[in-house]
Amino acid sequence: MHADDIETVGDATVVDVPTLMFSRLNPLEALRKHWGFSAFRAHQGEAVEAALSAQDCLVVLPTGGGKSVCYQVPAVCGNGLVLVVSPLIALMDDQVASATEAGLRAAALHNNIPEDERRLTRSRLLRRELQLLYVSPERLVAGDLLGMLREQLRLVAVDEAHCVSHWGHDFRPEYRQLAPIFDQFANVPRMGLTATATPQVQDDICAQLGLRRPLRLVGHIDRANLVYRCWPRQNLTSQVLDVVNRHPRDGGIVYAQTRSQVERLAASLVAAGVHAAAYHAGLDASVRQKVQRDFVNERLAVVVATIAFGMGIDRSNVRYVVHANAPKSIEHYQQESGRAGRDGDPAECVLIFSGADLSTHRALAHKDGALTPERARVLDRHLRDVGRFAVAPVCRHRLLTEHFGQAYAAERGGCGACDVCLGETKELPSEEALVIAQKIISAVWRTGSRYGAGHVVDVLMGRATEKIVRAGHASLSVHGLLKDAGEAALRSWTDQLVVQGLLHITDEGEYPLLMLTDAGRALCKGVGHVRLVQAASAGAKAGRSTRKGGVPAIAAADDADNDLFQRLRALRKLFAEKHHVPPYIVFHDAALHALAAAKPASAAAMLEVAGVGERKVARYGRAFLAVIAGVDPEAALAAGGGEA
Ligand code: ADP
Ligand code: ZN
Repeated sequence: MHADDIETVGDATVVDVPTLMFSRLNPLEALRKHWGFSAFRAHQGEAVEAALSAQDCLVVLPTGGGKSVCYQVPAVCGNGLVLVVSPLIALMDDQVASATEAGLRAAALHNNIPEDERRLTRSRLLRRELQLLYVSPERLVAGDLLGMLREQLRLVAVDEAHCVSHWGHDFRPEYRQLAPIFDQFANVPRMGLTATATPQVQDDICAQLGLRRPLRLVGHIDRANLVYRCWPRQNLTSQVLDVVNRHPRDGGIVYAQTRSQVERLAASLVAAGVHAAAYHAGLDASVRQKVQRDFVNERLAVVVATIAFGMGIDRSNVRYVVHANAPKSIEHYQQESGRAGRDGDPAECVLIFSGADLSTHRALAHKDGALTPERARVLDRHLRDVGRFAVAPVCRHRLLTEHFGQAYAAERGGCGACDVCLGETKELPSEEALVIAQKIISAVWRTGSRYGAGHVVDVLMGRATEKIVRAGHASLSVHGLLKDAGEAALRSWTDQLVVQGLLHITDEGEYPLLMLTDAGRALCKGVGHVRLVQAASAGAKAGRSTRKGGVPAIAAADDADNDLFQRLRALRKLFAEKHHVPPYIVFHDAALHALAAAKPASAAAMLEVAGVGERKVARYGRAFLAVIAGVDPEAALAAGGGEA
């Protein structure tokens, strides 16, 4: 945030403004005026009402569900201060920038803020000028702020509230010290916000934050704007490129399991002309910071990273997340893939899977030290669930939703937003699946359960590798038995059999070996059942065909609109650089798409566009209207930018 921003904000020159003098809007007016949205999303309106009528509440909404509106609208409508406890400093600064852009008097206090800025914030706080104050839990627990908050505090909001729970995934001890502090403000309502859907965590949040008979607002966990795809790994680089090329110029994250995989994949993408960089914990802090900054500021399109990348990244217009390997658990997948499409616009999540990934995870976990039997069981369950998700011929949205204990009611014909429902991945007829499974299992049996998946596939493909010749496997009846299916399908089916418990991969010894299981033996005798899937058309083509089909919004824009969108985007970037904020803080992608489609010719018409509030029109209107009228972005910016 900058001094000149602060000068223009609100009544900064008026000292000691009585809080009641601030205009009191009703919630919907506030939403329209400041954010340019015409209606609340699910549960937002109720959360705002609860806050304004001094009732505690717990808000559970998925990433991108619009949690910040729940406490920011009360900051505009209520007379007084909304205090927001937030665990991640990077996100906090982003939230302040974005609230300030929407015309709120907002600031943050945490230990990374320079002293002079902190002093300014304190004096604004003393003058009761602020509507919204973000603090780190440490800052609040330190106690020195409490006196200043007295009498002006109207709501405390705890973001990422699952951090208070041992059951959650990011436990933060300081969160446990919040309730006693809140108790000093007995009449102030509390709002906990999280995306974590498990009931156990929710109960814990209510208890640990001392929420008093809270209204529970639990939204649907499904991220309807995400398209999920799971592909068997064949040619990794070309599969990743397939996704990247579907989103030219857009931001994307590619996760790989190890540092060396990250390096290799990043190099291949760069060699293919993609604007990509590597990110992992082995790189210098300065290199990592640069990658992160460039990505957030849209100077870099693609980050290839280990899962060290992502915490604290609030770029809301990440259009795709690719996993080059299986994630550790469905919870991890939900979180990592969830970094796509936080702005609610369509985005794509692709999991490129091989059964070997699960063995690698297991091996890594064991390398870190002996696992207790309990932890080993949990690990097994997590990996089994990931494997199922990756290969089961079931709607991915449904699987994810049900994993988190909610029911999924798809439209007839499926979700329209996953490879299964889009018909890119098809289930084989059950008799065909049974015969194929029996052939693969018997190849494992005939070769003595002493080889890895690669060798078994070679045998079924009828190859004459050195190993096959040496072992005499060319004379087996299973040699060449499934060669028409192709290697990719054979590898994927083998994984699918493992996930279904019909084959087993040992982790002991130097190489993972494919072994028989009782269920697999039974299947060969015709007992039990098996489901197998196959890409309807060879993986790469599948994605492209769906752009016309199920996936909404971006695909619908015609080329002229897209050209305008790109020019509006260029202007947005110029403003972002000028104001030192990330581009998505100036306007969300959705707002730019809406502007490109509506092509408003006046400030009044611009205000009608979703996602465009009064302050944005005042600050950027003239320049954006100029670009819509055909002026070059650089010229539009130079012409004064339209800042009021
Ligand atoms: P969360 O914190 O739950 O991940 P955010 O508060 O960042 O979500 O909001 C996600 C996106 O949804 C933002 O782009 C925001 O502008 C948009 N949004 C929030 N509320 C609404 C609404 N009522 N109408 C339209 N868009 C909204
Ligand atoms: Zn589906």
